[in-house]
Amino acid sequence: MKKNENKIYFITAIATILISFSIMVAISFKSSKIDFKPYNEFLNDLNTHSVSTVYLVPSPKIEVLLNNGTSYLTDNPDSNTLRETLLSKNVSVKDKSNTYMLQTISSIFLIISIGYLTISTISKKKSKGGISSLNTEDVSSVAKEKFNFNSLAGNEEAKESVKDIVDYLKFPEKYKKYGARVPKGVILYGDPGTGKTLLAKAIAGEANVPFYAVSGSDFIQVYVGVGASRVRNLFKKAKAHKKAVIFIDEIDAIGKKRSNSTNGSSEEKDQTLNALLTEMSGFNEDEGIIVIAATNRLDILDPALLRPGRFDRHIEIGLPDVTAREKIISLHLKNKPFNDLNIKDIAIKTAYFSGAKIENLINEAAILACKESSDFITNEHIDTAFSTIIAGHEKINTSSFKYEDKKITAYHEAGHCLISLLELPKEKVSKVSIIPTTKGAGGYTLTLPTDKSYQNLEYLSKKIMVFLGGRAAEELIFGKNHITTGAYSDLKQSSNMIYNMIAEYGMGKSLGLLRLSEMPTSIQNASAKMVLDECKDTIDTLYFKTKTLLLDNIDNLNILANELMDKETLSYDCILKLIEQNN
Ligand code: ADP
Ligand code: ZN
Repeated sequence: MKKNENKIYFITAIATILISFSIMVAISFKSSKIDFKPYNEFLNDLNTHSVSTVYLVPSPKIEVLLNNGTSYLTDNPDSNTLRETLLSKNVSVKDKSNTYMLQTISSIFLIISIGYLTISTISKKKSKGGISSLNTEDVSSVAKEKFNFNSLAGNEEAKESVKDIVDYLKFPEKYKKYGARVPKGVILYGDPGTGKTLLAKAIAGEANVPFYAVSGSDFIQVYVGVGASRVRNLFKKAKAHKKAVIFIDEIDAIGKKRSNSTNGSSEEKDQTLNALLTEMSGFNEDEGIIVIAATNRLDILDPALLRPGRFDRHIEIGLPDVTAREKIISLHLKNKPFNDLNIKDIAIKTAYFSGAKIENLINEAAILACKESSDFITNEHIDTAFSTIIAGHEKINTSSFKYEDKKITAYHEAGHCLISLLELPKEKVSKVSIIPTTKGAGGYTLTLPTDKSYQNLEYLSKKIMVFLGGRAAEELIFGKNHITTGAYSDLKQSSNMIYNMIAEYGMGKSLGLLRLSEMPTSIQNASAKMVLDECKDTIDTLYFKTKTLLLDNIDNLNILANELMDKETLSYDCILKLIEQNN
């Protein structure tokens, strides 16, 4: 709306300038054609009664019309008595000629139009350059997207966890009736190109509501207040539609944890963030507006953003596993001519590719096929495209393609999984994967803990064994010299647990029931060695037990690891089936 209005003003201003300018040129052209006569000749004409009319205008020249119809210009004497003289000689006097009036009006219009254009250009430039702009410029793009959940392959869990949001957007009144609180804000986090934007568009598409997309960086201006006013404007527009999805990409640009620096841009960030939070608390549950934000990392966001009533639902969008990759490949091959492609094979080769990277691969292959005027995209095109893409990507990614790395991760995760199955069978291993997470782990094993208020000594020891299972498997299979840093966070957690068991929970021998943190510093220092020794003994014993257990079940370890290398992600049912088949 605002943009269109501006356009109309702009066009009107230009048109006015052109018209006024033409009029002025025409007038001056006409007057340049009128002869000029010295003042004394005019006086002559006056005395001979040949003057019919004189146009008295406040300008250096006045126009004189003779009885014979011709006219000329002469100098303006600027005298007060001229009018009287003229009238006494029966000459008609006109104060302002039409031309003079036209000229004046044209120049006024010309000045106004030029002024308008100058001011609007300056303010536009300022808002771009970040100096000042309180005009609420449109930074969002709105579209009734045609996307739906089928536009996004894989990510089944993420789709599942936003289904209620789609339902809410369709029937907000229903939720109001039940007094149910639906999240106002959702954060999608995960690696770039994994389909966060696509999922947000799909939500809007499924619910058939407008989709407003902005990027956090659009709000960052050096000048304080601009971002905040843009946020308010964005919400105003979305609210005008009643129902809408507002998508803020790169939310970290405004929502990073606050630093101590007090420069302009950080103040601006705070104001923008506050405006966003205020707007979010300002709309009601029954309004049907959802704010979806995307970031590559959840951990760098300001906690204020994540509180209840704000962005309180966090959904990880992970890299696709082999099955999901197969679906993504098929999706992007749709509407493209291909022949004899081994889609399964491409899916296996594209380990650690994001959806966007897969799309890029298919597109490169299509370009190659097109260049060769080939009838179809073939395996050769895919292979060539693959090499160019791999060569063009960062070192980290290419190295992670190494078979060896995949194998280590597979054994590491299989180790966690197997120990968990054997030692804590009631804690269901819901998912094992060798696809890296955004939190930096090479893979992950998810368990569903049982409902227990207390954790006893036996449980804690077994839990530590599950943590140690990853490193133990690495050592057993690849040897002491090939253990990796992959166990970093496992060791961090087990060390913490063991220390707490001995020093805080009264479960150890060296301190008995004494809590170390309650002791005076002198005693804490004196018993440090003793506590350390007991911690070390405990972890060594548990590690030995873990290794022995794995060794006794080495077949199952191999089976799990191999299947992981193949499928990349295993579900609970799949794991159980594998183990049962072997026993
Ligand atoms: P993000 O917002 O996570 O950076 P996008 O949603 O912008 O990623 O994804 C970029 C492109 O990659 C999409 O337009 C789509 O073509 C492709 N893509 C990514 N993930 C998927 C997926 N799961 N299924 C299909 N296409 C995908
Ligand atoms: Zn681990």
